[in-house]
Amino acid sequence: MHLVADDEMHAHAMTRDLGPSPLDPEFTADDFRGLVRRGRGMIKPFLLDQRHLSGIGNAYIHDILFRARIHPRRQIPGLSDAEIDALYASVRDVLGTAIVMGGAYYEKDFYGHPGGYTAEHWLVGYADGQPCPVCGATIRKIKTGSTSSYICPPCQTL
Ligand SMILES: [Zn+2]
Repeated sequence: MHLVADDEMHAHAMTRDLGPSPLDPEFTADDFRGLVRRGRGMIKPFLLDQRHLSGIGNAYIHDILFRARIHPRRQIPGLSDAEIDALYASVRDVLGTAIVMGGAYYEKDFYGHPGGYTAEHWLVGYADGQPCPVCGATIRKIKTGSTSSYICPPCQTL
C-alpha cells in the first residue's frame, strides 16, 4: 500500500498516468463527452484503459455497457451524444453502487472485509444463458478482442 498526498498524486509512479475518476464530483457529463470524443476504436477497451478513466474494471464493464444499451464492439466515432450521456450516467450508477456496497464480493477493503456487491447484483455480467432483466432474451458471452463480454443481443445491437 502507498500513502500519497493529494497534491503529489500527479507525480507518483502508480497514479501519475491514471485518468480522472468518473465519480469525482467535478467530472461532468461534458468532461466525459469530450474524453470519449477524442477516443478511437472500440468503446470497451477505451473505457477499460485506466489512462483514459480510472476505476472501471473488467467486472463492472458488462453492466455499464448494458445499462447504456451499447454493444462492447461499437466504434467510438459512431456513438451519438445521447449514447455517450447514457454511458456517463451508467458508469456513475454502477461504480457508485459498487462503492456504497464496499466493492465486489471477491475484493477486500483496508480491514480485510469482503465487498457486498455479489453475483445477484450483476444484470448481464457473468449471466451467460440467463434471461435479460429488461427484455427476457438470453444473455450471451461473446469474444471482444482478447477479452470476453456478456451482452443481451436485442438490447445491445451492433
Ligand atoms: Zn435485453
